[in-house]
Amino acid sequence: MTSYRNVITIDGPVAAGKTVVGRTLARHLGFDYLDTGNMYRAITWLAIRSNIPIGDAAALEELALENPVRITSPQGDEVEVGGHRVGTCLRTPEVNSQVSLVSQVSGVRRAMVDQQRALAANGNMVMVGRDIGTVVLPSSELKIYLTASANNRARRRWQELQDRGQDRDFNLVLEETQERDRLDSQRQDSPLKPAEDSWMVDSSDLTVDQVVELILSRANCLGGATPR
Ligand code: C5P
Repeated sequence: MTSYRNVITIDGPVAAGKTVVGRTLARHLGFDYLDTGNMYRAITWLAIRSNIPIGDAAALEELALENPVRITSPQGDEVEVGGHRVGTCLRTPEVNSQVSLVSQVSGVRRAMVDQQRALAANGNMVMVGRDIGTVVLPSSELKIYLTASANNRARRRWQELQDRGQDRDFNLVLEETQERDRLDSQRQDSPLKPAEDSWMVDSSDLTVDQVVELILSRANCLGGATPR
């Protein structure tokens, strides 16, 4: 099995704080940051735009194989797929509601995992997602499973939407969050779950800086992830 040097993986459910923690951690360490959720979102966006039925697994696989996703900014929020710059299109309600269905397709997952492993080959990376510690990079040195209470996570997601000017009912946001987690953790291929040797971090009562600090000290103790 390939050993990935200086790679930290962060998995966990919706709105556990993976993105902000992952980005901050990468900045502290001088590592690259890869948000794999944006890759699944990009393929979902392209499928919707190309009128590919979400139930057509073969067509989705072909789409994913033919259209590698390019992340073009260090923050991970500028994304290109199929010749389109899609960064701002990845969090629309349509993408949000379809992405967990597209990411159930094994052919799509294979295409994404190959790209993710290639991007991690040089090490010095924080990679964030659902199956990074279990499937994509199980031999990485530090695997985190970041979580928080369902209520807490839905509150964060609700606040994010408010900040973007989208006024949504809190209970609806809570239901959507739970539904996406249900689909992600019950799928056959690469379900959301902690790796056996991942480190569980509950961020419910912690600030982002506190979570980052905890992970940095753990990385330091392992002697694994060292700033470049
Ligand atoms: O992290 P984010 O919420 O942007 O991820 C969107 C969706 O992409 C997840 O709900 C999940 O269905 C899928 N995903 C996945 N495997 C990953 C990352 C994301 O299946 N490694």
